[in-house]
Amino acid sequence: MAGDNQFDLVILGGGSGGYACAFRAADLGMSVALIEKAEVGGTCLHRGCIPTKALLHAGEIADNTREAAQFGVAATFHGIDMAAVNSYKDGVVGQLYKGLQGIVKARKIEFIAGEGKLVSANTVQVNGQNVTGKNVVLATGSVPKSLPGLEIDGNRIISSDHALKMDFVPASAIILGGGVIGCEFASVWKSFGTDVTIIEGLPHLVPLEDENSSKLLERAFRRRGIKYELGNFFSGVEYTENGVRASIANGKTVEADLMLVAVGRGPVSAGLGYEEAGVATDRGYVKVDQYCRTSVPGVYAVGDLIPTLQLAHVGFAEGIMVAEHIAGLNPAPIDYDGVPRVTYSHPEVASMGLTEAQAKTKYGDTAVKTFNYDLAGNGKSKILKTSGQVKVVQQVDGPVLGIHMVGDRMGELVGEAQLIFNWEALPQEVAQLVHAHPTQTEAMGEAMMALAGKPLHVHD
Ligand SMILES: Cc1cc2nc3c(=O)[nH]c(=O)nc-3n(C[C@H](O)[C@H](O)[C@H](O)COP(=O)(O)OP(=O)(O)OC[C@H]3O[C@@H](n4cnc5c(N)ncnc54)[C@H](O)[C@@H]3O)c2cc1C
Repeated sequence: MAGDNQFDLVILGGGSGGYACAFRAADLGMSVALIEKAEVGGTCLHRGCIPTKALLHAGEIADNTREAAQFGVAATFHGIDMAAVNSYKDGVVGQLYKGLQGIVKARKIEFIAGEGKLVSANTVQVNGQNVTGKNVVLATGSVPKSLPGLEIDGNRIISSDHALKMDFVPASAIILGGGVIGCEFASVWKSFGTDVTIIEGLPHLVPLEDENSSKLLERAFRRRGIKYELGNFFSGVEYTENGVRASIANGKTVEADLMLVAVGRGPVSAGLGYEEAGVATDRGYVKVDQYCRTSVPGVYAVGDLIPTLQLAHVGFAEGIMVAEHIAGLNPAPIDYDGVPRVTYSHPEVASMGLTEAQAKTKYGDTAVKTFNYDLAGNGKSKILKTSGQVKVVQQVDGPVLGIHMVGDRMGELVGEAQLIFNWEALPQEVAQLVHAHPTQTEAMGEAMMALAGKPLHVHD
């Protein structure tokens, strides 16, 4: 620790939000202390984005092996070796973790291992010592939530943290919650051979997405044999001899080896001295303005701890913005509408901007036009044997308001979708751009050509 424990910036929590802020602040010449009780990289690297996507990739290979004969390739699927899958997953995480640790060192960030607590507006106490900063950033992230009275035992009733450490493939699983995390685990477990049932109280899977995307995902999951109970809330769970039995408000019950609780994540703020230091919170989330400033001057908060989208790239963006704001660079506030969202299931769901319903609420029913381009007409998607759609929501005679895609690898198209949305492109402008053939990006080009009145591979 630096001799006098005084820094330009003290950051509490070394996840996506905290470390991005540390890296940018160090680049801008600040002395930075990064306090972390576990491992730099936080949820995203160790318990979230990266390990789940490694599992999903292993699942994709399992599916490809089972289906290899469809492509004329002779292969036999012998099963999932969970120890080997975990070693692959942990290897990916380990390499990225090493890389992050290297960056912390290279940028001369003071990494302090320990559990910190805010003891005043500019001081964090850790390992019995006070660490003081001209500014402080709170970045303590989030943890899995449960429902009132539902105890996660880590064995038969588990959270995503436990699911990522499992050394076996369950024969059957109930997934409570049909949001992003629930659907990703449903997808990977089905690929590994588990009999999966999702229970979602709202009428659709991925309920925050455009209804068309939800319906396409539901259809694809149904074809894959992933079961779901929608529109009725979970009412309780009991242990059976070898597993659990979940009850649903409509009177149905579902039995399985275990239940994954994927009902969202809550902020880590209790007992950390935030409120005592005067930092205003709402249901545990730290309240911030558009520059992520809290109610206490000099104290900022970023990432899952604040009530913005719980995504790693949002945490990165907030961390970078805060560092630049402190450095006086006058950064633009983040436009949260312009943040891409991806569910990495098989098939993937990717989106930008407003859903059709949101666009109609905002602009009126007659001011909104949509076009659904079916991937059945896209050569590369046919080659991959994936189906789905690219749906574009447009303001009549105006820019693209939203793009909603379902299909394998659609997450890769979200890069183009975000440029189109954030630059408020008109469909006829995008239609001018030549898309490489045969790629799935052509589906984007074709949707825009259709909206511009010159459809190519489209028929009614
Ligand atoms: C299963 C799963 C899959 C996900 N997949 C994706 C995805 O594909 N794409 C995506 O964008 N997002 C994904 N997310 C969300 C993403 O992981 C989070 O949005 C992101 O990690 C939030 O970053 P953060 O820095 O706010 O918090 P965190 O990553 O939670 O980091 C907070 C850090 O603070 C530390 N900490 C907490 N309290 C203290 C204390 N008192 N003292 C010291 N240190 C402390 C913690 O140890 C932790 O390292 C996923 C999440 C989960 C759970």
